[in-house]
Amino acid sequence: MVAIGIDIGGTSIKGAAVYSDGKMLNTFSLPVYRGDPGEKTVNDLIDLVEKYIKEHGLEKEIAGIGIGIPGTLDVDNGIVEYSNNLKWENLPITKLFQKRLPYKVRISNDANVAAFGEAKFGAGKGVPYSIMLTLGTGVGGGIVLDGKLYEGNLGKAAEMGHIVMEYNGRQCTCGRKGCLEAYASATAIVNDTKKAMEEHPESLMHQVAEELGKVDGRVAFKAARQGDKIAQQVVDQYIFYLSEGILNYCNIFRPNLVILSGGIANEGDYLFDKINNYLKVHNYGYKKTPEVKVVPAKLGYDSGKIGAASLFFK
Ligand SMILES: [Zn+2]
Repeated sequence: MVAIGIDIGGTSIKGAAVYSDGKMLNTFSLPVYRGDPGEKTVNDLIDLVEKYIKEHGLEKEIAGIGIGIPGTLDVDNGIVEYSNNLKWENLPITKLFQKRLPYKVRISNDANVAAFGEAKFGAGKGVPYSIMLTLGTGVGGGIVLDGKLYEGNLGKAAEMGHIVMEYNGRQCTCGRKGCLEAYASATAIVNDTKKAMEEHPESLMHQVAEELGKVDGRVAFKAARQGDKIAQQVVDQYIFYLSEGILNYCNIFRPNLVILSGGIANEGDYLFDKINNYLKVHNYGYKKTPEVKVVPAKLGYDSGKIGAASLFFK
């Protein structure tokens, strides 16, 4: 079985044919046109998909076209309700595809399909229950239960970043206060790093930031590894909130794995050992409840394409 998986990002769209064993053919891509309310971009995308299917001789084999999209969607009716990244509003993307191509189309949130891709063919391969958290500008993610993507009513579940960690805590972009996103996103650690650098001109983080040419999510981790106490405090606080958030998901879903993606997930054993040790100590029911392992994502940018196509695989 083969399906087309498409991953729509803020600036570009990438897609590929993916087989039900996870094998992927070459990737096609096109830019998202700025200022276009969506129709022109989508029509060019449809041209490209049609050409790609013909070139690979897949016309008779395609099970469907899966599309991951950033923003709020009505997945049942195939409509992009609003995407802040794309500036698309009430775009009937499934209808546009089906007007021109004879294939089934399914849309889902971009974070959801990435989680599904990782669960099926990446870090979660062979495991029934997994949760993915993407640590980027915000904290996104997805939930896979019994091998199936859990999308909730109209596909609007899995807003993983918006669980409150701190009553009356930091202001979150969603309007509430104290959400996980405000403590565990890449944005949050960059803000914490900058604040700690201001307060501590002696910290090694200044030198690291100069070497890297900017203050990003790596600065505190790099300085912490070299023994800088202030950087270690920044990292430990970050890991504390992230681990507590993960424990909340563990207590509700008891997944086999929690998969982390995004730039922060590249911090290797230094990050994952600390999180896994924290989880071991604070696991509900101590040794009676199965432990949950936290691991890095494996598929990188391919997870969205693979996950979107996987929406058609049994
Ligand atoms: Zn929030």
